[in-house]
Amino acid sequence: MRTLKDISFANQRAVIRVDFNVPLNDKGEVTDRTRIEAAKPTIDYIRAQGGSCVLLSHLGRPKGIDPSQSLQKIVTTVSDALKTPVQFCSTTVGQAAEKKAANLNPGEVLLMENLRFHEEETEGDLLFSKQLAQLGTIYVNDAFGTAHRAHASTTIMAQFFNEKKCFGALLEKEVLAIEKVMKTGATPILAIIGGAKVSTKITIIESLLEKVNHLLIGGGMVYTFTKALGGSVGNSICEPEYCDYALSLLEKAKKKGVKIHLPTDVVAGNSFSNEAEQKVFNVMKIPDGWEAMDAGPKSIKQFHNLVLECKTILWNGPLGVFEFPSFAQGTIAIGESIGEATKKGAFSLVGGGDSVAAVKQFGLAPKMSYISTGGGAMLESLEGKSLPGIEALQE
Ligand code: AMP
Repeated sequence: MRTLKDISFANQRAVIRVDFNVPLNDKGEVTDRTRIEAAKPTIDYIRAQGGSCVLLSHLGRPKGIDPSQSLQKIVTTVSDALKTPVQFCSTTVGQAAEKKAANLNPGEVLLMENLRFHEEETEGDLLFSKQLAQLGTIYVNDAFGTAHRAHASTTIMAQFFNEKKCFGALLEKEVLAIEKVMKTGATPILAIIGGAKVSTKITIIESLLEKVNHLLIGGGMVYTFTKALGGSVGNSICEPEYCDYALSLLEKAKKKGVKIHLPTDVVAGNSFSNEAEQKVFNVMKIPDGWEAMDAGPKSIKQFHNLVLECKTILWNGPLGVFEFPSFAQGTIAIGESIGEATKKGAFSLVGGGDSVAAVKQFGLAPKMSYISTGGGAMLESLEGKSLPGIEALQE
């Protein structure tokens, strides 16, 4: 992996693919600048080495030029977050853009207009990629969130830099965190896979069976397994068409020596609502009229003991309908357990949309070793796929 430290940036112009795809409110103001702050270490490093920075990003999904999604809207926030003035270029490629980039002095930062104002970006167009490459002398990719896309700025332009390209600090951290689970993790390794449906997690589960010692299955997908095993699921979410798959997965895990953990008791409600009446049932005996929406107290204890035994922990997907505070206990508890294990020296990685949202919502983020910034890219990595953006840096 070629990283920032392997390249000399003095008097060089780094063209950096960042992920500034930040949320904007109705007034066009940035409502969450986490992604901008996440790119700061890379930009700071290059500036401190005497290099200048040309920043490339997309924002939203514009179809052609759309002033409401101009990166101009975020310039002030980027300046604030980076604590340095940031220039803006109203074009992304072409003569004027190249001139503006070439005029940068060491330490200066220039943000280019939204990449996706050009359809050539997502098409991975070679000519457009070459034009992007004219903007700098070194290529740095620091956008993990788009590393699974073979777009012009994320992948194709890398070929014009030979050895003069590298991982940004954020991308490096993301890749190392995933490697710590998928390749170099200390055992026992535990994957906690929750969420609504088993059908959306098949490839991930299959891939993880090759890597982990324990697989904890939580959330709505539990009831496809318990139905397959002859249990009654009441009104709980269930995909009967995946029951055969669930059984084959249990068989496969057994052959590979992976221990599968399901909740033994669950908290159910008499309607899908935060205000529903609650009862705890054995996971195999959920009566009609009741919908299981969280892990029960016994399961929470069992899961706690399991988590504390493990040295590497991956968490993807909530253990219940955490959006309802009355059914968030299992998700909060597993997060607390992971936090405790992490404090004792385990490595924990949280990734994938809803678990990241849950961790942030319940204030658990500081207790985890690493929280992935890239939803799709993270999931594809866990599925065992190699990401085009990462491959392009290694060629
Ligand atoms: P996913 O995007 O597949 O990770 O699923 C996340 C969603 O799963 C969240 O919105 C949760 O509310 C939902 N979920 C978790 N447990 C259950 C459950 N027992 N019943 C219904 N939905 C659930």
